[in-house]
Amino acid sequence: MKKTLVIVYWLLLLVPALVIGGLALRLLRHEGARLDSAAAASARGRAQVLADQVVVSVQELEEKMGESLAAIPRAGRVETLSAWERDNPLIRNAFALDAKGGFVHPDPAVPLTGEQEHFIRRYEGLFSGRVPWEKPAADAVVAAASSPAYASPRREFARLADSSFAKVSAAAPAAPARAGASWIPWYADNQLHVMGWVKDDADGTRYGVELEMAAVLSRLAPVFAGSSEGGTYALLDGEGRVMFQSGAAGVSSGVVPVATAPIGALLPHWEVGAYGAAGAGAGAGRAFVLVTGLQVALFVAAIVLGGSLLLWQAHRHWRDAMQKTSFVSNVSHEFKTPLTSIRMYAEMLAEGRVKDDARRTEYLKVIVDQSQRLTRLVNNALDFSRLEQKRRAYRPELFDLCVLAEEVLESQRVRLQEAGLRLEVDAPGVPCVVASDRDAVTQAILNVLDNALKYAAEGGQLRVELACRAGRCTARFLDRGPGVAAAHRERIFDNFYRVDDSLTAKQPGCGLGLSIARRMMRDLGGDVRFDPREGGGSVFEVMVPCEAPGGGKAA
Ligand code: ADP
Repeated sequence: MKKTLVIVYWLLLLVPALVIGGLALRLLRHEGARLDSAAAASARGRAQVLADQVVVSVQELEEKMGESLAAIPRAGRVETLSAWERDNPLIRNAFALDAKGGFVHPDPAVPLTGEQEHFIRRYEGLFSGRVPWEKPAADAVVAAASSPAYASPRREFARLADSSFAKVSAAAPAAPARAGASWIPWYADNQLHVMGWVKDDADGTRYGVELEMAAVLSRLAPVFAGSSEGGTYALLDGEGRVMFQSGAAGVSSGVVPVATAPIGALLPHWEVGAYGAAGAGAGAGRAFVLVTGLQVALFVAAIVLGGSLLLWQAHRHWRDAMQKTSFVSNVSHEFKTPLTSIRMYAEMLAEGRVKDDARRTEYLKVIVDQSQRLTRLVNNALDFSRLEQKRRAYRPELFDLCVLAEEVLESQRVRLQEAGLRLEVDAPGVPCVVASDRDAVTQAILNVLDNALKYAAEGGQLRVELACRAGRCTARFLDRGPGVAAAHRERIFDNFYRVDDSLTAKQPGCGLGLSIARRMMRDLGGDVRFDPREGGGSVFEVMVPCEAPGGGKAA
């Protein structure tokens, strides 16, 4: 498979996988956002339920208090109001005005307490008549907004005017619809105060009470007590301060709630905030996106990895197939050349066309040489198939490696001479006894020698060093040929691998000689190795483990 084709296939696999993965992640993010908003909606819903319960509680309180207020008889009203102010924890201040709006309680003749003074200043707009009692909404707000003492830093009273007070007049009308009092939520000093008042239509007098907010809040405890399951909820005032909270997780002012629900006109700008586990659904959404996103990423990685593996396998099979095809054509070519020579010379001799004895001897030598070449080829081919099928059987025997190497060199002396290679042999002069397979070692030496003849003839010299030391008997073949470039040094031992250069292209071969030699030597505990030769050329070393004196293998 060509490299570009592999890249195209790989891209065909990678691009759709990444696109699908990307789309899946987008969908997931969508789904995560949907889950988050669903969780927030449920938290908001729960907060709204609590807000409604707060409204009911406050309404109930105001109704009861309003009824009691309206039921105070004219005679003894001031005394009753004073007693309430003193004894009822729900009441912070009380007041009574005469028909003209003048104070009857607190008694103008008696010096005011600090609290009473603050109270009168707080509601100055109402008491002065600037803000109408019946319709306090917009006017009250304008009055409050124009008074720097009552201005809220956070809330704009204009907005307040549009919303809450307007709603107050609609939802909890200032003019009593039934027997009871009218209630006015009133902002001063950034705090909400609630006042209830009654007008005695018979004499035009007006009286009322201001609620103690801390006591009102304590009435809301049961509402929040039952809400702890499913998260933390808090009642927040107009400034976002936590007035009351439920649930395990403590909430401090300033922490942004995941959802809020307004209390409404009774307590304007107050709201119920949902925190922590109430927003756990949102966290679940994120966790869902994370876990599923990880699964998608794993899935895409598995597709890309699996696909790449399959592609790599296909590439390997394709390469093997190509190698086998080239092996068949190379082997056929290698067989054809010697067979043609043998046939040609044999026919000439058979037909008696060669009369000269010297010529006849020369032709016979060619026939012998070529048939030896055929034998080497056949041996290599057979060895390869046996090695591939793991059927190569070895018959170890004791022999002297130096003697064997010299015999092989002797058998090839004429070829070496004809190739112009001057042979130098450096033998140790002592036996190098090995216990190995004689044929396999012969084949390995022949293959290395054959390569020297094919690729290093121009170097003009082949040095063979035989040695036996450190438990290894070695036959080193040192030529002055072109050597092997670093990039190919290990690959020349691969099946069918031939260096892609002009010198190799000119020589017959199928890239099996070195791989067969190394595989057989390794099977026998030895090796075949390449080293660049100093000054240029190659060193091929055939190594066989030594047989120690006494029969055992040397360490
Ligand atoms: P073949 O000789 O059939 O091509 P081999 O396995 O014997 O296969 O050798 C593999 C390759 O190693 C050769 O194609 C050649 O390029 C390179 N080679 C082997 N011996 C030598 C050498 N002595 N000098 C330079 N190159 C060599």
